[in-house]
Amino acid sequence: MPKQGHIPCTMPQRRWRQSHDYTGLLIATLVICSWGLHLVWVLHLNFSAIPPISIIGTVLAQAFLNTGLFVTAHDAIHGLVCRHRIINGGVGAFCSAAYAALSYKTLRRSHWLHHRDPMGSFDPDFCDIPDADFWTCYQQFMAQYLGPKQLLTLAAAVLAVSLIGQVSPLNVVLFWCLPLLLSSIQLFYVGTYSPHQQAASRNMQHC
Ligand SMILES: [Zn+2]
Repeated sequence: MPKQGHIPCTMPQRRWRQSHDYTGLLIATLVICSWGLHLVWVLHLNFSAIPPISIIGTVLAQAFLNTGLFVTAHDAIHGLVCRHRIINGGVGAFCSAAYAALSYKTLRRSHWLHHRDPMGSFDPDFCDIPDADFWTCYQQFMAQYLGPKQLLTLAAAVLAVSLIGQVSPLNVVLFWCLPLLLSSIQLFYVGTYSPHQQAASRNMQHC
């Protein structure tokens, strides 16, 4: 459950880039296209035609592209994709939904709370369960963003792709669900768990 509190959660005034370059948008487009094209390709892969080591590489490559998709949503939260707010928000919303049917609005609100009060009582990403292990913290983190609505949407998308696209369920599980799981673990460990652990151990040393 997201933590409740009275901390003001209005978005900080972000200084939108004054430059006229579209590098962020170009990178975001490349990430989205790579993710989409690779996903379509792997969903139709014929297992018998490729060696097992290539299957592992393909799963890892799709996980990497999923991570890129989420990082692009994170960039949009920080206003880094495009100086036009509507385009920036649109890219963020698309990446959040394409990643795991996530709500960009919820993601953005929680992420700003995290930046306003890192590791504090209002930080929704901080696991404050005493002596909690990695998996407990991961479960708590995921539960904030993946509710019944997201899980049902994901299940419907998987079913629709399997039936309409005539994709093998094995391909869907191996090249869509597994990379998504691996990517979420990677993002949680690198972006949340590890920094929080390091900061907590620094605080312990200062006490
Ligand atoms: Zn951030």
